[in-house]
Amino acid sequence: MVQNIAKPSFVALENIGKSYLQPNGQTISIIENINCQLQVGEIIALLGPSGSGKSTLMRMIAGLIPPSGGKVLYYNRPLVGLNPGVAIVFQNFALYPWLTVLENVELGLKAKGEAKDTRVQKALRMIDVIGLDGFENAYPKELSGGMRQRVGFARALAVEPELLCMDEPFSALDVLTAENLRFELLDLWLEKRIPTKSILIVTHGIEEAVTLADRIIVLGRNPGRIRADLPITLPHYRDRKSPEFQALVDQVYKILTNPDLPDSSTQETTTTSHSTIAPPPAPPKYQSLPHVRIGSVAGLLELIEGRQEKDLYRLAQELLLEVDDLLPIVEASRLMDLVAITEGDIQLGAIGEKFINSNIDERKAIIRESLQKHIRLVQQICQLLQAKRNHRISEELVLDILENYFTSKEAQRQLRTAMDWGRYAELFSYDEPSGEIFIEDSATEAEISNL
Ligand code: ADP
Repeated sequence: MVQNIAKPSFVALENIGKSYLQPNGQTISIIENINCQLQVGEIIALLGPSGSGKSTLMRMIAGLIPPSGGKVLYYNRPLVGLNPGVAIVFQNFALYPWLTVLENVELGLKAKGEAKDTRVQKALRMIDVIGLDGFENAYPKELSGGMRQRVGFARALAVEPELLCMDEPFSALDVLTAENLRFELLDLWLEKRIPTKSILIVTHGIEEAVTLADRIIVLGRNPGRIRADLPITLPHYRDRKSPEFQALVDQVYKILTNPDLPDSSTQETTTTSHSTIAPPPAPPKYQSLPHVRIGSVAGLLELIEGRQEKDLYRLAQELLLEVDDLLPIVEASRLMDLVAITEGDIQLGAIGEKFINSNIDERKAIIRESLQKHIRLVQQICQLLQAKRNHRISEELVLDILENYFTSKEAQRQLRTAMDWGRYAELFSYDEPSGEIFIEDSATEAEISNL
C-alpha cells in the first residue's frame, strides 16, 4: 500500500499514564506507561477488551483530556488543549438533532472559524464523498443508523483532520450496515479520496482490526498498557477466509488470552515483520474478576467438552460468539483453574473435566474449592466473615478495600461478581436491604473454617 512508504511520526506518546481520584481519596491508575508513535499513512487499530483504556487513550491523543503523567507530543511539541490535527467520530454519532445534515457537517468548520461560503462548500463536498447526497436538509431523526454515522464521518472529515479518530464507529450499527460502511471507508482511504493522513480506530473487534488496520496496538487492562504493537502488511482487500488473515486473527487472540506469552512464540506465526511484543506485564495489583456468571462458565466447559476444535478463534466463530463475550468467560474459567490456555488453544483441565461429569451439588463443591484456592476477593470476604463473631460484614467494608484498586463503579461490579460466584458455591449470602454479606448456615461455616 502506498501509504506505508513514507511514515513520519506526527503524534508521539511518551510514558503516558492516566489516573483518577476516587471519592474515597484514593487514586486509581487506568492507563500506565504507554509509549508509541503514530505515523502518517497508517490505519491504526487500538484493540483491547472493554475497560482497557482505549477510549481514554484516544481522548488524550485528541486533547480532550490531559494525561496524568507523561506527554502527548504533536510534531514534537507537548500538546496543550485540543489537538488541532484531530477530528473524532463517536460510536453514538453525537449529532445535534435540531440541526440538519448540512448544519451538523458544518459544525467543525464553524468552530475552526471558516467563513460561511467555504464552510458550506467544504461540507457539501464531504457530504457528496461520504454518500449523503440528497440528504443535506434532512434532520438526524429522519435517517437510519448507517446514514447518521455517515453524517458523523462527514462532519469529522470536513475539517480535513490529519488524524481521524474513531471510537467504535461501527458498533452501534447492524452487522450488514457496519460491514458496508467499513468497506466504503476503506475504499475512500485507499483511493485517497478523504482528506486525512492517518486513521486511529478504537475497537474491541479482532476481525475489524485485522480487516482495516496497517498496525494493531493491543491494550491489556488493569491498568491499561500496550501488550503488543503489530504491523499488518497483508494487502487490501483482505479475505477473511484466507489462511494469512486467520493466522493474524489467531495471533491477536493469543495475545489477548495469554498475558505472559513470550515474544518468540507470538512472532513465530506472524505473517508480518517487526511486531513488537511488550514484555510480560507486572502482576496486577489486585486480581480483577471478569464479570460473568458461573452458568456461562459451565456453558463454556460443556461446549468444549469432546469438541475437536480447541482453537479459541475458530471456536468463537463456530459458536457465533463475539470476542468480547467469549474472552471474559474464558478468563473466568482460567482463573478457577477449570481450563488451560496455551497458544490460543483452550483445553479442559482435570478439574474442568470433573466439573462436567458432576451433579449440581458436586459442581458447587468444585467451584467452592476453586474459589477458595484461586480467587482473592472471595478468600478475603471469607476471612472477613470468619473474623466477625456474628459472621456478617457490611459490603461497604469490602468496597472500601476494592476502591484502593478499582474505580467505585468497577469496585461495585467486582463485588457483585464475587457475590454471584460465592453465592453459587454457597460460601456466603447477601442481604440486599441491609447491604450485608453473611454466612448462610453452619455447614458452610465449617467449609470456610477450613480455609
Ligand atoms: P475502553 O474504551 O477500553 O472500554 P475506557 O477508556 O472507557 O476503556 O475506560 C478505562 C477505565 O477507566 C474503565 O475502568 C473506566 O471505568 C475508567 N474511567 C474512564 N473514565 C473515567 C473517569 N472520568 N473517572 C473514573 N474512571 C474512569
